Parts: sequence; structure tokens; C-alpha cells
Amino acid sequence: MAASGAEGLCGQALLGAVPGAPRCPHGPALLFVKTSQGREEGRRFYACSACRDRKDCNFFQWEDEKVSETRLAAREEYNRNHQPSFTHRQNVERYKNFVQLPLSKRRFCQECQQLLLPAEWEKHSDHQFLCDISTSQLKSPSQLLCPLENKKANAQYLFTDRSCQFLLDLIIDLGFRRVLSVGTPRLHEMIQSNASQEEDFRVRSLLLDIDFRYSQFYTEDEFCHYNMFNHYFFGGEAAHETCRKFLHQDNGERVIMVTDPPFGGLVEALASSFKKLMAMWKDTEEEGPNNQEMPMFWIFPYFFESRILEFFPSFSMMDYQVDYDNHALYKHGKTGRRQSPVRIFTNLTPRMIALPAEEGYRFCTICQRYVSSGNQHCEICNSCTSKDGRRWKHCVLCKKCVKPSWFHCNVCNCCALQTHTCEKADAGCFVCGKAGHKRSACPSLSRTRTACQADKKQRQKILKRVKTGICKRSAMKHAIFFRKKVKNKKKKDTILLAGT
Ligand code: SAH
Ligand code: ZN
Ligand code: ZN
Ligand code: ZN
Ligand code: ZN
Repeated sequence: MAASGAEGLCGQALLGAVPGAPRCPHGPALLFVKTSQGREEGRRFYACSACRDRKDCNFFQWEDEKVSETRLAAREEYNRNHQPSFTHRQNVERYKNFVQLPLSKRRFCQECQQLLLPAEWEKHSDHQFLCDISTSQLKSPSQLLCPLENKKANAQYLFTDRSCQFLLDLIIDLGFRRVLSVGTPRLHEMIQSNASQEEDFRVRSLLLDIDFRYSQFYTEDEFCHYNMFNHYFFGGEAAHETCRKFLHQDNGERVIMVTDPPFGGLVEALASSFKKLMAMWKDTEEEGPNNQEMPMFWIFPYFFESRILEFFPSFSMMDYQVDYDNHALYKHGKTGRRQSPVRIFTNLTPRMIALPAEEGYRFCTICQRYVSSGNQHCEICNSCTSKDGRRWKHCVLCKKCVKPSWFHCNVCNCCALQTHTCEKADAGCFVCGKAGHKRSACPSLSRTRTACQADKKQRQKILKRVKTGICKRSAMKHAIFFRKKVKNKKKKDTILLAGT
């Protein structure tokens, strides 16, 4: 989220999307409240829903602020000017012209991340470009486009072929024939290219993503410019209708939503959007109201499990490790290699989600789900308790299984890394100063704020241990406005298993 500069990521709590919220170029802003040491300071403000970094979108407005007519007009003008230079419709037309060109005239400008028509070559003459763009390149835009990054060298994280193929096979095996791809361009692209091949297993996909560069490659029925933090369709009612229609079209084809949001995102904002997408699906059910939920795969790190379950109690976390192409350390664990912390959360019955035996996953008949090879069934917990793929050990004092690297600390009265600094309860609570409890158990924290603290902890975990490596979202600046420079700095991949 933007705003609150020096206070860091969580000097603020999200109150949510409210009707009549002011708009920035990324759609309606979200309402936040300033907090200080976990306490609301009372003053509420609006900030950009999509950009965490002020540099990407500096929209800020106090809730009670009077905004003059002139400023409102200027803001509208600003929002208009910060839309992409071509509309989606124009991009579709441009694509039609582009594919008519002989190979020798098909250029892609790497600086503007744009397909060029011959008349435009001149304007881009001092830019780097790729020549002879083939049909297969056009069918894999995620390979052609440069993964988005921000100043902290973050990137769009694209699935490896292994993970992407696994997801698609799973979707097909489960009998789904339509996929709502929310922030999963590579899955979308794999589906699109499979669609033209295999008649029997024809799957269709609609991509919703904030990365507008994709509008150069897909029609309005295949891609909607969408912000998943405020459920905003940039293409207005028409795009909304496209999505509704996609969820609606039945002919016995079942639909599943697959999403892989930026990990730095506020879980409650995502959850609220996903609930709206689920409601759109439900509305379209012709048989009248039923108690079913739209099937969903939400791909996210395992340490967000409790947050996701808070919003979607019907979800469970699968052991499958999702890995990424452009992230050296978020790759499938082999001996001595670090393992990906990214998992699939789903509202489908866990036993239906068959994980590949050739990668060591096995079926636990007691838990009735597939688990990773290192995940041992604990007799005391009566469950396969590992979250990170390593074998966990049971602590009789904590009465639960803990990470193998943890030991029971008698001062903290819980398990922790041997190197931890004891958080003595009698030293007083960080929030209220009173003795007898720790910050995490402070009664003065309301639910939202505690949740916010929890998110903050998770973010700090990511920021510290993952060295910001996975905060994919600020990247989107490029996505929305074709920027002139796309740097490709070498990332310092210093990712460790979070919480190790
Ligand atoms: N693993 C996926 C990509 C995940 S990267 C794949 O290979 O297909 C996260 C994706 O979310 C990116 O495509 C990014 O453009 C998109 N994204 C980031 N912020 C978004 C937002 N606010 N709304 C919608 N999409 C967003
Ligand atoms: Zn088990
Ligand atoms: Zn146990
Ligand atoms: Zn301790
Ligand atoms: Zn307290």
C-alpha cells in the first residue's frame, strides 16, 4: 500500500473498499487507518490499492479531507493521462495487422515492451528490439515480455514448466474445462496453446491481470485488465460482463479459478476480491441458490495458511511445492537444494488433489490427502504436520509438532530457534506496556489490528528472510504504463526458507 511512508508497511490497517472512494489510476482507493504500536490513531485515509510503494502510485487522501473542484478535475485528468497509450481494442487491431506481416517485418520493442508496426519503427529507432517474431513467440507472451521488476529487484514470478504443466494436468483430470486465471499469465498461455491442439481436453481460460502488456496478445474475450486488490475492471462494465459471461457459460463445462497473487499483498483485500468473483460465479448458477463455492486454487506461501483460512475456512493447504522460473531458489527441492515455500490452497476435497509420486509425494490414508515425502504422520497430533516439506518433530510441552530446527525454550515457554531472543512476558507487552502477556496476546488489540500485526509479521518474515525477493506487485508500474526503461538487474537471491 502506498502512503504512510516512514511508518513502514503496517503503520496502518486496512478498513477496506468503501462506496464512493476516490480513484487513482488503479481504480478506487482503499480505506486505511493509521496505527501506532498497534493502536488506531483514528485518522483514516485513502491510498492506492495496488501499489505498496509510494513511488509507483502516490495517491493519498485523508478520509475527511475537503478536495476542491480544481483538484478533483486535476486528479481526473491525471488518472486519464496515466492510462495505457493504446486501448485494448486498439491493441487487438494492431495484433491483427501484426500477424499479417511477413516474419522479417515483425518487431518487438524491448524498451517499450510493445509489438511494432512498420510505420512505428522510426519512433523506436534508438530502442533495442527483437526481430522475426514467430507465431510461437506470439503464443508465449510471458517469454517475450520482460518479467516486471521494481527497484528492490522484484519480479513477476512465472511458473516453471513443471509446475504449470502439473496445474493444468490436475485441472483437466479434475474435469474442469474453464479456468479463470487471475494473475496467472503463464497458466493462461499454456491453456491457450493447448486449446488449439487437443480437441478432447479443450480447456478455455480468461486471464485477469493488471499487466496491460498482455492486451497486445489476447482479445477482449481472453484477457481483462483487472486489479485484484479492489476487484476493479479497467475496461468497465463491458469487461465485467465478459467475466460474468465466462463464469456463466456452462454446457456442462466446470469452471475453476486459479490465482497466484503478489505475496506482499494484503490478504484481506485479496480475499474480499475473490469473494466477489465467487459471488459472480454463484449468481450465474441457474439452478438457483446452492451452498457450493466456486472451486479455487489460491497459490501462496505456506506461512500465510492461517490468514487464508481465516477468510476461507473451507480451504486447505496442499503439500505440493510450486516453483518459479525466474527465481533461482524458489525451485523444486532436490537434495541439498532449498525448497519452495509456495503452496496450493483449495476448497476442493484434499484427497482429490493427486500429487506426483515421481516427485516423492505419497497418499496418507489417515489424513486422506497427498503429502510430501518428508512429511511424517505424527501419532500424537494424528496428522501429517510438516508445512515446509521437512520432517517435523513433536514437542510434548508445546503439544504440537514443530520445525526440526526448533528447541523448546523454557523462558518463552514455546519452541523456537536456539538463536532466538527471548520475549520475556514479564518485561511488559510491547503494545500496552503491561506485564503478564506478550504483544501477540495483547487484549488491547482488536481483531483487525491483530490481523494487521499478523500480516506485518508475515511481511517482515518475507522482507527479512526472503530479502523482498517475492514482492511481485510493485512491478506493475511497468504493466500499466509502457515505460521506457526495463532494467534487468541481477537479483540477489538470498532466499531462505521462511522461519527456518
Ligand atoms: N506464477 C504466475 C505469475 C504470478 S506473478 C504465472 O506464471 O502465470 C503475479 C501476477 O499477478 C503477475 O502476472 C502480475 O502482473 C499480477 N498482478 C500483480 N498485481 C496485480 C493486481 N493488483 N491485480 C491483478 N494482477 C496483479
Ligand atoms: Zn497423515
Ligand atoms: Zn505432533
Ligand atoms: Zn525464549
Ligand atoms: Zn498488551
